[in-house]
Amino acid sequence: MKCSICLLLVSLSILVLCNCGKQAHDTYVWPPPTPSEEHAKVLFIGVDAADWDNIDPMIQQGRIPNIAALKRDSAWGTQKSVSDNSPAIWTSIATGFLPQQHGIEAFTAENPDYDPNDSDSKRFLSVSSTMRKKKALWNILSEQGRTVGIVGWFATWPAEAVRGYMISSYASLDVNQGGEQLTGKGTFYADRPDLVYPPELGLGDSNTLRLLMEKGKNTALATTERVFAGYPEREGAKAWQINETKWAFAADDIFFQIGKRLLQEYPTDFFAIYLAGLDVIGHRFAGSLEDDEVLRRYYERVDEMIGELISVVPKDTVVVLASDHGTALPGPTHDYEGGIFLYRGRCVESGYCAMQSDSLDFLPTLLYLMGVPVPTQLPKKPMEMLFHDQWRRDNPTRFVEMTLDRKASAPPTGDSYRDEIFKRLSDLGYIGSDGQSKKLE
Ligand SMILES: [Zn+2]
Repeated sequence: MKCSICLLLVSLSILVLCNCGKQAHDTYVWPPPTPSEEHAKVLFIGVDAADWDNIDPMIQQGRIPNIAALKRDSAWGTQKSVSDNSPAIWTSIATGFLPQQHGIEAFTAENPDYDPNDSDSKRFLSVSSTMRKKKALWNILSEQGRTVGIVGWFATWPAEAVRGYMISSYASLDVNQGGEQLTGKGTFYADRPDLVYPPELGLGDSNTLRLLMEKGKNTALATTERVFAGYPEREGAKAWQINETKWAFAADDIFFQIGKRLLQEYPTDFFAIYLAGLDVIGHRFAGSLEDDEVLRRYYERVDEMIGELISVVPKDTVVVLASDHGTALPGPTHDYEGGIFLYRGRCVESGYCAMQSDSLDFLPTLLYLMGVPVPTQLPKKPMEMLFHDQWRRDNPTRFVEMTLDRKASAPPTGDSYRDEIFKRLSDLGYIGSDGQSKKLE
């Protein structure tokens, strides 16, 4: 059996982690201190392209019990996207600013050092965390003394120094922006320098991260079997689409396995994980009844992951579920009015439907919820109406003047990383040796 994702994963070399004990990084100490009981703790689950129009019928059919339970007890609504581009939206969710303000506007960005006369010079580079011009939630929380765990979020490579940890996702390149993709969403590459912060992040023994990666790979293969079981064109015209979807399942499952373990071992005040697979499968398969069923089966897998993540956090944790845009079926087309949000917790006004928010509402609302002063420079204010009257009276919004600007720069090592990953993708037949995307047969 031709299995691109196996090849991809087998081709990854192994990150050997040392468990070096307590060390200081910048101003942060590892391991992070235990979260205090004083403020709300948050589990934020980002699910790219999740849409109530797809979710609600599945809730009624009893196919996604964990999301059903969340929604039943939550304040929820729809989200208007601030961009038509996923990395831009997720960065807006994390910063509270518009893409033109935070600087992550697409999957790739022009290489500032591009030289058209130099054949080795590459015009496009994958967007990176260094290109972001605004502080993200994890920067603000870290500065305010809260701990964070960030896993798989868009455009977070190289991993940033935070009070806690970050498992960044490497390389998200796009067909449209650079003509040069094909991974689309970021991936966990165990041998990438700066992929993990702090570098000595250990999970009990030096092989744990590799083992979790292997576990994620195996669960992703099982997911592939399940999602495509009985799929009529599995060996035919759509076989390439299946191959192109496997890597997204693997990325989700690897981030999920690592994230769940980190949640258990190193609880933080704020923990966020990002899952890309629904968006990818929506692009590849939606559009007919049988294809929509493929999408629904992956919703079931996402629902299981959500249930397992919730099962390992303390009961008083506020759970936030969010997408960046919706998916209109059949099509599929992105629905930029149809993203979702949901907050569930004791402080939340359960059953409240806020109708519509936008991607910029998350950051001030999350800061407010966690008892952190809200910077006055943010374009939006907290969505206080999501919370109980009494809780709002006890927790008035506090505002603060603070700079949210950040010095942006090109990725630290530029083309050597790009060339290596492009070569891997080229070896797998995703792109040509020049980096141009290739039609897969
Ligand atoms: Zn998206």
